[in-house]
Amino acid sequence: MPLLINLRHLEKHDLTLEGELPVGDLDIDTRDEMVQLVKPLRHCLEVQQLGDALLARGKLVLPLACECVRCLKPFEFRLELADWACHIPLEGEEKAPIVGDCVDLTPFLREDILLELPQHPLCKPGCGGLKKPNVGKKKKVGPGATKNSPAWSALDKLKF
Ligand SMILES: [Zn+2]
Repeated sequence: MPLLINLRHLEKHDLTLEGELPVGDLDIDTRDEMVQLVKPLRHCLEVQQLGDALLARGKLVLPLACECVRCLKPFEFRLELADWACHIPLEGEEKAPIVGDCVDLTPFLREDILLELPQHPLCKPGCGGLKKPNVGKKKKVGPGATKNSPAWSALDKLKF
């Protein structure tokens, strides 16, 4: 379902749009293999008419499948526009196309989401990246430390 605003309905009362927009309808090419759109956009929007324009505002949430640019770990990045607002002119040069009394909000969402996409996704703030020496160290330390730990010595004494 595209995000269509029926202007006839809007003449009577403000509209509330709540639901999910399939990622295919959003039609966003991130041009970044570290950032992929795989889940629908959740939205909760209020739309009202203000003279020759529409005002849409509300909340957008789009989970992104990302890969950390430092450690390459896949993680989900929650892109959230909690206070999204958009002024959509219905008159003048910049006016939104109206098809069968309806205005499609999708292009306006798309534009703002593109601006908010993470440029260098990180699995956590200050991710240290791939620390190969540390990973090796951990593996070595693991069993060795256990054998020599006081707990093991106590166990050994109990057994023998
Ligand atoms: Zn990372």
